[in-house]
Amino acid sequence: MTERVDQYFGSSVFNDEAMREYLAKDTYKQLKETIREGKELNLAIANQVAHAMKEWALSKGVTHFTHWFQPMTGITAEKHESFISPAKDGHAVMEFSGKELIKGEPDASSFPSGGLRATFEARGYTAWDPSSYAFIKENTLCIPTAFCSYSGEVLDKKTPLLRSMEVISREALRILKLFGKTEVRRVLTTVGPEQEYFLIDKSLYLKRKDLIHTGRTLLGSRPPKGQEMEDHYFGNLKGRVSAFMRELDEELWKLGILAKTEHNEVAPSQHELAPIFTTSNLAVDHNQLTMEMMKKVADRHGLVCLLHEKPFAGVNGSGKHNNWSISTDTGINLLEPGDNPKDNAQFLLFLVAVIAAVDEYQDLLRVSVASAGNDHRLGANEAPPAIVSMFLGEELTSILDALADGLDCPSKARTSMLLGVNLLPPFPKDTTDRNRTSPFAFTGNKFEFRMLGSSFSVSGPNFVLNTIIADKLSLFADELEKATDFPCALSALVKETYQKHRRIVFNGNNYAQAWVEEAQKRGLSNHKSTPDALPSFISGKSIALFAKFGVLNETEIHSRYEIVLENYCKTINIEALTMVDMVRRQILPALSKFAGDLAHSANEKLALLKGSSLSYERSLVQRLSMLTDSLDEHVCALENLVLEARMVADVTNASRFYHEKVLPAMAQVRAVSDEAELLCDASYWPIPTYDELLYSV
Ligand code: ADP
Ligand code: MG
Repeated sequence: MTERVDQYFGSSVFNDEAMREYLAKDTYKQLKETIREGKELNLAIANQVAHAMKEWALSKGVTHFTHWFQPMTGITAEKHESFISPAKDGHAVMEFSGKELIKGEPDASSFPSGGLRATFEARGYTAWDPSSYAFIKENTLCIPTAFCSYSGEVLDKKTPLLRSMEVISREALRILKLFGKTEVRRVLTTVGPEQEYFLIDKSLYLKRKDLIHTGRTLLGSRPPKGQEMEDHYFGNLKGRVSAFMRELDEELWKLGILAKTEHNEVAPSQHELAPIFTTSNLAVDHNQLTMEMMKKVADRHGLVCLLHEKPFAGVNGSGKHNNWSISTDTGINLLEPGDNPKDNAQFLLFLVAVIAAVDEYQDLLRVSVASAGNDHRLGANEAPPAIVSMFLGEELTSILDALADGLDCPSKARTSMLLGVNLLPPFPKDTTDRNRTSPFAFTGNKFEFRMLGSSFSVSGPNFVLNTIIADKLSLFADELEKATDFPCALSALVKETYQKHRRIVFNGNNYAQAWVEEAQKRGLSNHKSTPDALPSFISGKSIALFAKFGVLNETEIHSRYEIVLENYCKTINIEALTMVDMVRRQILPALSKFAGDLAHSANEKLALLKGSSLSYERSLVQRLSMLTDSLDEHVCALENLVLEARMVADVTNASRFYHEKVLPAMAQVRAVSDEAELLCDASYWPIPTYDELLYSV
C-alpha cells in the first residue's frame, strides 16, 4: 500500500466521520445522544442508521452483514447474511433494516452456556452495541453486538464488561462530585493490552498434531540454544517477520486499531504488539480483532501465529499485559498524581480504592485469568506468579506508609497535612525502577495487570477490575457523603484503607521463593491451578458483589463457572488424546524402527568384524528398548486415566481429576519421550524438533 497511513486509517470503520457523511444531521445527533446516555435506540433512527451503514458498506464493495459477538468460547462469532433481497422481475435489491441492525437471532444452542440452556430458552439473540463502531472485514459489514439468552441471561463476554463500565462510572462520579468536579458527566475506563505471540513456519506446524489440535507442543526436548543469551529481545526483525508486521499494522490501521509498537520478545520466535490505549469496550473488540488478524496475516506469509500461553516448554510463555486506567470525559486521568493539594488527595483516594479492591478481591482477579493454558505460566517458574500482589514503587509506598503510620501528621495544620498532600512529591511519569516481576504494577498513571494469558479476551479481567473498584468507590462515597468534615473524613479514610490493605503491596522480586513464604505469612492466596482458583468465583462474597452492581446474577456466575471448568477439562482431554496418538503412531514406531535398524546393522557389523564388542550399538539399543517399553507403559496409564476422567460426573471433580491425575501422567509420558528424542537418530525422529520450530523463521 502506498497510500499515507493517515488517509486509510479507520477506512474500514463506520466511525464518527463516516456517520457524519452518511447520516442526516438530525439522525446523527440523535444517535450520538443515545450512545452517550446509553439509552435504547428507537426503530425510526435505527432504520436510518441501518440504511446509512448499508450505503457506506456497499460503496466499499461489501455484500454481507453479520452481528459480530463474543460468546464464551473466547473467540468471536459471526453469522453472515447477504444484503440481497428479491425484487420484481427477477431483480434483486440490497436491503438492511433497522430491525436487522438492532437485533439478530443466531442459533445459541451450539455456544457454551454452562447449563443455562437446560433451564432456560435454548435460543439467544444478539443486540447492537452502538458504543462500538461497525466495521468491514472481508467484504462483510460487522456489527458489534451483545449476546443474551431469550430469558435475558448473558451468554457473552461483552455484556458484563459494558455493565461494569456503567457501574464504575456511576460510583466514580459520586466521588468526583465530592471534590467539586460537577462538570464531569461520565467516567471511562481505558485499556491498552500488550499482546505477545509466537510466529513459526507453517510447513513445520503442519507436521505437528499437537500444535494443530492443542496450540502447544506436548513433546519435544529443549533446543541446545534457548533464550539464555537474551539476544532475541528487541533484536533486529527478520525479513519475513517484519513483512508480517508491516502488513498486520496496515490491516489493523484500516480497522481503526491504533497498533503502535511491534518488537521481538525474550524467547526465540516470540514477538509483541502494543496498541495505544482506548476505552475498555473498544479495547476488547480491538484486541479480539488483533488476534484474529495476526492469525490471518501470518497465514498469508507462510507462517502460523501461536497465541497459546505456553507453546514451548522451557522457554517463556506468552501473556497479555492489561494496562488499565480510569479517566473523565473531560480528559483527566484519575490515576495521574495531581499538581495541587486537592487533586493529589483525589488521586490518593482513587489509588487506595484500587489497593483495597485488589487486596480484598485478589481471588476474583486470579479467577479472571485462570485457564488450562495460563496454568503453565502462573504458578510455574515464570512471570508472573499466581500470587496477586501490587507494585507501587518505593516513593509512593513510603508516602502511604508515612500516612498510615501517622508520621508527620500533627493535628495542627490538619487539612493539608492529614491529606498527605505535603508529602506527595511530583511523581515521575515513567518510573525507571519498574518492577517486571509484579503481577499488578503501578506504572506512573495506570496499573498494569500482567497475569492475563495471551489468548484471553481482555473482557473478563476488566469487568472484574471495574466491578471490584466500583465496589470500593461506592463504599467510600457512602462514607464521605455523610461526613460533616470532608477533609478530615477523607484523610481518615485514606489512612484506614491503606492500613487495612497494605499487605497486598510488595515491591520486591515476585519470583523469589522468599516471597512465596512471605505472602503466605501475609495471608495472601496462592492458587496455582484453575481448579484451585475457580471456587472463589461461586463464593457468597463473589455472588453478592456482582449482584449488588447488576453485573452478573447468581445463575450467570454459576454458568460461567461451569463453562470455565468444562473448558479446562476438554482442553486437557484433547491434549492427552493427542499425546497418546502421537506417541503410539509416531514416536514409538520411530524409536522401534531406529533400534531395529541399529540392531540389524550391528549384526552386519559383527559379521564383518568378528569379536567386535559393539558396545555403542549394544548400549544404545538397550537404552532405547528400555525407553520404548517405559513409554508404552506410561502411555497406557495415560489412556486409562483419560477413560477414568470421562466417568467423573461433576465438572468440579472432573477438573480436579484432570489436574491431579491426567496432567502428571502426561508429564511422565513427555519426560520419557523427550529423553528418547535425544538418543534417536535425527533422520528417524518423526516430528519437527524444538530447534527447528523455534529457529524456523
Ligand atoms: P511496557 O513497558 O510494559 O512494555 P508499553 O509502553 O509498551 O509498556 O505499553 C504501555 C501500554 O499502556 C500501551 O498499550 C499504552 O497505550 C498503555 N497505556 C498508556 N496509558 C494508558 C492509560 N491511561 N490507560 C490504559 N492504558 C494505557
Ligand atoms: Mg508491559
